[in-house]
Amino acid sequence: MSDYFHYRGNQLYAEQVSLTDIAARFGTPCYVYSRAALTESFRQFTQALQGHEHLICYAVKANSSLAVLNVFARLGAGFDIVSGGELQRVLAAGGDARKVVFSGVGKSAAEMHLALDAGILCFNVESAAELECLNDVAGNMSKVAPLSLRVNPDVDAKTHPYISTGLKQSKFGVAYGEAVALYRRARDLPHLRIVGVDCHIGSQLTEVGPFIAAAEKILALVDTLASEGIRLEHIDLGGGLGIRYREETPPAIADYVAALLRALRGRGEKLILEPGRALVGNAGVLLTLVEYLKYGEEKNFAIIDAAMNDLMRPTLYDAYHEILPVRREPSPQSSPASGRGGEREMQSLIYEIVGPVCETGDFLGHARNLAIAPQSLLAVLSAGAYGMSMSSNYNTRPRAAEVMVDGDAVYPVRERETVAQLYAGEKLLP
Ligand SMILES: *Cc1c(COP(=O)(O)O)cnc(C)c1O
Repeated sequence: MSDYFHYRGNQLYAEQVSLTDIAARFGTPCYVYSRAALTESFRQFTQALQGHEHLICYAVKANSSLAVLNVFARLGAGFDIVSGGELQRVLAAGGDARKVVFSGVGKSAAEMHLALDAGILCFNVESAAELECLNDVAGNMSKVAPLSLRVNPDVDAKTHPYISTGLKQSKFGVAYGEAVALYRRARDLPHLRIVGVDCHIGSQLTEVGPFIAAAEKILALVDTLASEGIRLEHIDLGGGLGIRYREETPPAIADYVAALLRALRGRGEKLILEPGRALVGNAGVLLTLVEYLKYGEEKNFAIIDAAMNDLMRPTLYDAYHEILPVRREPSPQSSPASGRGGEREMQSLIYEIVGPVCETGDFLGHARNLAIAPQSLLAVLSAGAYGMSMSSNYNTRPRAAEVMVDGDAVYPVRERETVAQLYAGEKLLP
């Protein structure tokens, strides 16, 4: 749990605001973000990078809510986008197009057009075919597209296979052995300008080793290119730094950055990083209400009002999120012994924490020991990354509200969706 979500007495707070108050004002399920936590993680990156020219391009897909993007834009962040839609979000949130890098294996010509029009910093090109397409689109617009090749360093990120992206068999990036030839091709195409190289080997990495192994391969490539007269302005080492959900011990941001800077020692190229999860993951919680408790022979269930459509990570990756009661039971020593007007102490029991969606895979936690009753509030921690941005409307469930806490203030930053909005674009047959 980040310092910005903490108990005061037996009440869970986000900064200086009680989560019980937030639930009363904004309802549940509700994503709650801490502006201070967002700011602090960004500051840790910039501090560690001091002394080396750099740009932190926040990976928008981790959490693309406008208010979150706006917090980073105000801090001077750049952005790593993977679609034209994300570019439009960045611009709507006050982000600077000149600090945007555009990743992704399937950029359409229309998306390239949009990004060239906006004047982004760099296209992170992921295939030979994309290179030709980008040259054509730029030519049609009488522009020159700045590009980097996303090179696959063939390094095992040692993370969940779904979020491992730097192995040979991955769909991402161009093969290491083909990179030089593709750079030569890019140099010869008239509407392209080579500005950098990039890689991104996976997500939720908990060791520095694979990052360094990837960096070293990329640096060797940079030297080979230089020997051919292809000089780069920046080296983009991607994102992927993990966070602590449970017992993981990822390197601290400062240590991770220091290790990268050691690998880059003596080099003048600007360093770009694309952190997503490490900036936002522990800056948000999902606030949810217990609807029913259901006792079975084998398992007990706490049925809550949030579900896999709100937070997909447990269902998709079998990911663990800590789940805490918003009002915890007083510890036995501190509670006045028995007999306050018949008020019964809640029994703590082992529950499966499940949502209302009609899927057996709809769970947010297994075998959690909690003292709860119907109408108790729970906070699902570490929900700031790949939570709201991966949410869906499955089961015609309107998406959750979002609020941002800033000190003792709470700002609603996204209204709870309505069912009418969900089918607003649908039509009956004539
Ligand atoms: C998803 C992604 C990131 C961010 O990954 P995190 O693990 O959230 O830091 C960075 N770069 C690219 C190209 C990505 O696809």
